[in-house]
Amino acid sequence: MTTRKYYWWHEMTGPEVIDFAKTKSDIAILPIGAIEQHGPHAPNGVDAFNARGIAELVAKKTDVMLLPWFFYGSHPYHHHYMPGTIPLSYDTHIAMLVDVIKGASVTGYNKFIILSAHGQVSTTLVAVHKLGLEGHFTLSLHWYDFLRDNKDALIDYMWHAEEAETSMGLYLYPEYIDMSKADAGGGEPLVDRKFIIAPGQMPKPGMMYHFEGTFARPEYKELKNGIIGDARNATLEKGEKITTRTVDHIVALIEDIKMRWPIGVKPPVK
Ligand SMILES: [Zn+2]
Repeated sequence: MTTRKYYWWHEMTGPEVIDFAKTKSDIAILPIGAIEQHGPHAPNGVDAFNARGIAELVAKKTDVMLLPWFFYGSHPYHHHYMPGTIPLSYDTHIAMLVDVIKGASVTGYNKFIILSAHGQVSTTLVAVHKLGLEGHFTLSLHWYDFLRDNKDALIDYMWHAEEAETSMGLYLYPEYIDMSKADAGGGEPLVDRKFIIAPGQMPKPGMMYHFEGTFARPEYKELKNGIIGDARNATLEKGEKITTRTVDHIVALIEDIKMRWPIGVKPPVK
């Protein structure tokens, strides 16, 4: 447990963020979300709020710097033209990720974690490798990859604006969730679901990650209420359980990085 007055870069002064990198930790987390509709019961900022909330809980358990989070994110093809959702183009998003991390490295930060609460591997992976070519140690984490919940904490796999995301909202920002409007929804993929890994699911051999194909019909034609899964199954208790499990996994990863690459040491990426 760490106690600090401020956890975020934008709350601190120039000398304070320089000093933090030299004395506390030179690891910085960049939380990234999306502006995306999440049904009639949850706000369009769910993914940004989840990324921010997880990052804050991680920083309370282990010393890391938190870079100002991104509200906007990139989206797969089938999210486009959906009212409520505002996608960044892939080029814009990749450029933003690269620019922020390059900028923060000048201040003395040597290890970076992009922490996403939205399915945007298409851009985070490109950004990570562009940064690697320039010598920056960068990991991109998607929170539900740490969940891998095969119907243990949850009744169903994680999908969208449903049990998992709504539960996390009830735990982290209940003031924005209206359970009286929670509903069930969904669509049918273009291949059998058994071949596709649901977000947060422990995959079986041969299953495709849910962004490895154009499996989905356009959301604006397919989804009746913007939900995939059943938001009515969400509870605060489930939210606390899946959030804490995710936070603990990320903290363990950070502790491992700290042990291998102590403060001031830049991992030899280049
Ligand atoms: Zn979401």
